[in-house]
Amino acid sequence: MKLLKNWNLPDLREAGKRTRGAVERVDTFMIPANAMNMGEGKHYWISTYGCQANERDSETLAGILETLGYGQAESPETADVILVNTCAIRENAMDKVLGELGSFKRIYNARPDVIIGVAGCMAQEDEFVKRVLAHYPWVRLLFGTHNIQDLPALLAEAMDSQERVVHIYSRQVEAYVNLPVKRFGKHKAWVNIMYGCDKFCTYCIVPYTRGKQRSRRMDDILEEVRQLKEDGYREVTLLGQNVNAYGKDLDEGLDFARLLEKTAQTGIERIRFMTSHPWDFTQEMIDVIARYDNIMPYIHLPLQSGDSDVLRRMGRRYSAEEYKGLFDAIVKRIPNVAVSTDIIVGFPNESDEAFQHTLDMVKACRFDSAFTFIYSPRPGTPAAEMEDPVSMDVKRARLQKLNSVWNELALEKMKAYEGRIVQVLVDGPSKRNPGVLSGYTETNKLVNFTGTGVKAGDIVPVYITAAKTFSLDGEMTGPRR
Ligand code: SAM
Ligand code: SF4
Repeated sequence: MKLLKNWNLPDLREAGKRTRGAVERVDTFMIPANAMNMGEGKHYWISTYGCQANERDSETLAGILETLGYGQAESPETADVILVNTCAIRENAMDKVLGELGSFKRIYNARPDVIIGVAGCMAQEDEFVKRVLAHYPWVRLLFGTHNIQDLPALLAEAMDSQERVVHIYSRQVEAYVNLPVKRFGKHKAWVNIMYGCDKFCTYCIVPYTRGKQRSRRMDDILEEVRQLKEDGYREVTLLGQNVNAYGKDLDEGLDFARLLEKTAQTGIERIRFMTSHPWDFTQEMIDVIARYDNIMPYIHLPLQSGDSDVLRRMGRRYSAEEYKGLFDAIVKRIPNVAVSTDIIVGFPNESDEAFQHTLDMVKACRFDSAFTFIYSPRPGTPAAEMEDPVSMDVKRARLQKLNSVWNELALEKMKAYEGRIVQVLVDGPSKRNPGVLSGYTETNKLVNFTGTGVKAGDIVPVYITAAKTFSLDGEMTGPRR
């Protein structure tokens, strides 16, 4: 199999450049004539890694494939098109993706017509692309986060030419709206409010792989939420790498507080949002969240480190004291709010004292939950160039210590739910025990409960009988709505 002649390896340095160029909004989705109905009678399989932005991108990939006539396959073994939508946040993500790609060799050997493709953030990294091109000849299609809308043309090219198709570039100034979407959930939906990120935290690859911040127009977002409500959806999650910066790139004087308020006024039952960056979080946003019952009292507020010097070197733009000040303002203004966080341990040159500051902050904030990571150097980011004398053993021990501290405090918080009645939006039977139902509280706690006459999408009152670190047990106590 040959390579197309006109491809370039992705270039992170180019991808990190920002211009003041206006964002061009492209809201037409065209299927080239040679791709029309190409999926009739065929099936696709998508495997998704990473964050909610990737989940939402996979819904777009599925939407495009279904527009071409493809149906969803039961497994990769029966699919005509297999796409792996990748994440580049940490190095171990690459090992997992390569492992999965390796397992597809079998399928390719049995059915050489199958098109196996890689999409998403990792396809924007040149090291990854080089490895795939050199060692995974059964991967015939590689495209990045900016090229999703080109999928019909790329597939047609791969099929017609029998060549490998690599199509990756960092378009900064375009935002595609109104691409087809196949929602994977029936009651909860992701709604993109912006793409990209301009924060450039020194450890993070996202601003390079997802490009410049591009906010969607408020009217388009509200229209999508209204439509979802009409279609029976009960919960939307407004998605962006840094939702609090929403609107800063638009000339319309809009901000996230206004968007949240307008979304609340659509009357959709539950509104969530993520991720919040402390730097852009205003008192007005806190006030709006407090004012509307349909904005859920749950905020994911990444701390990353409790040490001001580490935060400065991470480029986070807030000190430990400023974070705590914001945290206190949120807790004071929003009754019963739950706050979760992200923390990185072992950032280059993190001292014992700096790590202790993180533990102190965790104890002071008593987070409801935390996503904790060992720092993973991402080639091309400034932190990857920093000296780091701290050994991996020390980093692992810090992660373990941090997890035991937050777990213990989170369990105490969960215990406070025992004997209380909470409102649960039902997802369906629990994954572990089909005789038990599961769903989430307004504060985003997973609840496993018993009850009758309940279906996915109902909101039911549940009496909490027992608390664990990661979930609550309970019994339904009243009628569903
Ligand atoms: N935009 C969000 C924010 O500002 O917090 C988070 C985006 S990122 C997908 C999710 C989390 O991954 C980050 O909050 C951070 O804790 C973690 N992360 C990002 N880059 C990392 C790296 N190089 N090593 C370890 N963890 C990382
Ligand atoms: Fe990455 Fe920082 Fe942007 Fe979040 S805000 S996506 S951590 S650069």
